[in-house]
Amino acid sequence: LKYAAGGVMSLEAYSPGMPIDELQRRLGVSNAIKLASNENPLGMSDKVKAAIAAAVARDNLALYPDGSGHRLKAKIAAMHDIALDRITLGNGSNDIIELLGRVFTGPGRAALYSQHAFAVYSIITQAQDARAVIVPARPATDAQPYGHDLPAFSKALAANPDVALVFIANPNNPTGTVLEPREIEAFLATTPASVVVALDEAYFEYLDPALRPDSRALLDRYPNLIVFRTFSKAYGLAGLRVGYSLSSPALADVLNRVRQPFNNNSLALLAAEVALDDQDYVAKSVELNGRERTRLADALQAKGLTVLPSQANFLTVGFGRDAKPVHQALLEQGVIVRPLASYEMPQFLRVTVGTPQENDRFLEALTQALATA
Ligand code: PMP
Repeated sequence: LKYAAGGVMSLEAYSPGMPIDELQRRLGVSNAIKLASNENPLGMSDKVKAAIAAAVARDNLALYPDGSGHRLKAKIAAMHDIALDRITLGNGSNDIIELLGRVFTGPGRAALYSQHAFAVYSIITQAQDARAVIVPARPATDAQPYGHDLPAFSKALAANPDVALVFIANPNNPTGTVLEPREIEAFLATTPASVVVALDEAYFEYLDPALRPDSRALLDRYPNLIVFRTFSKAYGLAGLRVGYSLSSPALADVLNRVRQPFNNNSLALLAAEVALDDQDYVAKSVELNGRERTRLADALQAKGLTVLPSQANFLTVGFGRDAKPVHQALLEQGVIVRPLASYEMPQFLRVTVGTPQENDRFLEALTQALATA
């Protein structure tokens, strides 16, 4: 371990929560549910399943994938009306975050992001031995509680000239909070062109259309902006690991120089192509999420709990006390949700919006947990 470089030894490994199989083994049950990783509760679309089965039957997986991901990029290019040389494919959008960190940060440089922002921003920053400038989040009483405070980002940028990379998650995980399009635009307009602004839109599809920034138009105006999306959420492909970014050709070029030659496998590329064409499935997933998110939030509020306003596929629930015993009591009933102590929100749990049946099961288990824990 003494050979590990720089910031690596100060890191704690990302913990995705207990795998469903492990909990089932521990409890001796076969019906545990996991609402902990913001996956699509409908799974993947039938069209994707059929395409994967056909690809396996064709049996050409002994060959390397198309390292340029040309077919998928062509579909993404058409969807966003953007040139191919402005697209970068990642092994999940986490890969894009990592590429950004590797290219733009390192010793003597800093990355800036919000308190309570997505954990992978800090992992790559520390791993690069770069400095983290963590901007305090908005207060609990704000309309976007615990959300990003972009005016404070600007002030922190001015005070920290070593910042080379800024991460903004909209909506943010784990808070579900959003920024108004004009806030994002105002931030870009005042940010020096030498600072790369990474706009993480992992939950974009769930965002109310009226609240969506026109990130495609912003890309043409701000060559230091990079926007990324994922196939892990509304497209239902978390297990296959595909994400992508849109940026200036110059930014895409530097990311392309450091990425692994075959960072997306053949099945993942194919699945993403088919999923992108199956927008009905995305619409169905988003519609279910909207309906169930409202129902779940109402039920949680009726229990006297705090529910942060969410524009994503999860709800962040406040218990007004340490949430660990509630988390534990849910686990004992075979329900896995996400504790947020590592996000400096120990009184909150994050629950992914599931199917109606899963949400009912969660609510029942929660009633029990609140009575005992
Ligand atoms: N950004 C945010 C804000 C996320 O919540 C996640 C997934 N939890 C990701 C990026 C990464 O997702 P993936 O690597 O599966 O695309």
